Amino acid sequence: MIVTRNPATEEEISNYPTLSAAELHSRIERSASAFESWKSTSIEHRADLLRRIASEIRNSLEDSARMISIEMGKPLSEARAEVEKCAVGCEFYAEHGPGFLAKEEVKTDASKSYVRFDPLGSVLAVMPWNFPFWQVLRFAAPTLLAGNVGLLKHASNVTGCALEIEKILHRAGVPEDVFQTLVIPSSDVASVIENRNVRAVSLTGSEAAGSAVAEVAGKHLKKLVLELGGSDPFIVLEDADLEKVIPKAVQSRTMNAGQSCIAAKRFLVVQSVYPEFVERLTDAMREIQLGDPLDASTKMGPLAREDLVEDLDQQVKKSISQGAQLVTGGKKLDRPGYFYAPTVLAGATTEMTCLKEETFGPVASVASVANADEAVRIANSSKYGLGGSIWSQDISRAEQLAAQIESGSVFINDFTKSDPKVPFGGVKDSGYGRELSVFGIREFVNTKTVWIA
Ligand code: NAP
Repeated sequence: MIVTRNPATEEEISNYPTLSAAELHSRIERSASAFESWKSTSIEHRADLLRRIASEIRNSLEDSARMISIEMGKPLSEARAEVEKCAVGCEFYAEHGPGFLAKEEVKTDASKSYVRFDPLGSVLAVMPWNFPFWQVLRFAAPTLLAGNVGLLKHASNVTGCALEIEKILHRAGVPEDVFQTLVIPSSDVASVIENRNVRAVSLTGSEAAGSAVAEVAGKHLKKLVLELGGSDPFIVLEDADLEKVIPKAVQSRTMNAGQSCIAAKRFLVVQSVYPEFVERLTDAMREIQLGDPLDASTKMGPLAREDLVEDLDQQVKKSISQGAQLVTGGKKLDRPGYFYAPTVLAGATTEMTCLKEETFGPVASVASVANADEAVRIANSSKYGLGGSIWSQDISRAEQLAAQIESGSVFINDFTKSDPKVPFGGVKDSGYGRELSVFGIREFVNTKTVWIA
């Protein structure tokens, strides 16, 4: 049985029976049978279905947004934006996906040779709760368009969202067995990967989950994409316009209560602007309105689960004991729900927990750096390599620095975000493979050479 709980009130929302082993494997069989007919549908038909999914998503936007807010605690305004982004993602792949998968002629010694992109079969998605709709749709849209069929194992605390997504896709006309939500605990994931009908896996989540899934996928030779954690650097150079930088720094660190893999987590600020940066960041963090996610005035809700707020608090306490200066926050709020005060830790160094580990909550760790070279060195000292940003008025200098940063993306004068038009993913412990854009849709296909003598 999976029990979901409202993180703003700690009250139980619902409980869901999990699939038995027999039910689970019969669902996988059905998925494999559905692939046989789905792969022969035309890509135009599948693109059309994506457009219908986009419209179904918009039709039920309010209900979906409410479900997101209640299950994982983000403010309703952020939940609405997330749901709308899903519709945009579907429309993007409906429009561009057929082109991304079109046959590519190659000049060789053959009379004719070309590359085609064929589907693989059933693809398992193991997804996290932090963007419970977006993470799933950014997987499902390209995967289904390519002619694969999808199996979703969503994070347990957003099981209501997982079932809602399944309903939306079915209402739009996706055949029942072409996209299925499997209500199972994470301990059952290995048996799904082991099943010979499952051809590939996409996981977004922690390194621990990624490593466990990679072990099984490796043993059974299944293709895998991993989108894992991050501790993105936010590099502020001496010529940055703090008037513009501060609101973006706060937004990047506190959106979704700081529970984003691509949130700015390590603020590396050149020493000449460091005191002013810390002061202005602190003022802005103190102004954030915390409260019930369903209340229109709320800017930040609770963290999604009790263990997450406990872990974050431990990381902050440990960093302070290692010498970080607590400027504001640093505590759970004294009220029901898993609320954590927006926090600024100054004087952070690479030896401290707050720079070494990912802090998955509203904690801004700020380090003073001598210059841009030191900022890049500290940025690259992390085991993670997901995103990052550089703030400077000298664009060509920022571009040179961007080339030196070990991460899947670098944004200049903006915070890291995902956009269907550009690839998303990481290096080092942040994972491998890419989602979104042409690169994402080509992860789960058989890139096949056809050679005519
Ligand atoms: P998590 O505990 O790793 O859970 C993610 C998913 O993996 C859930 O569906 C979970 O199921 C499942 N899972 C957990 N342990 C597993 C195991 N041993 N074997 C198979 N499946 C397992 O992570 P989370 O707490 O939900 O999310 C936070 C982490 O995800 C952060 O590190 C964050 O940075 C990362 N993240 C990365 C991205 C990205 O795109 N790179 C995006 C969002 C989040 P249960 O819920 O049933 O345990």
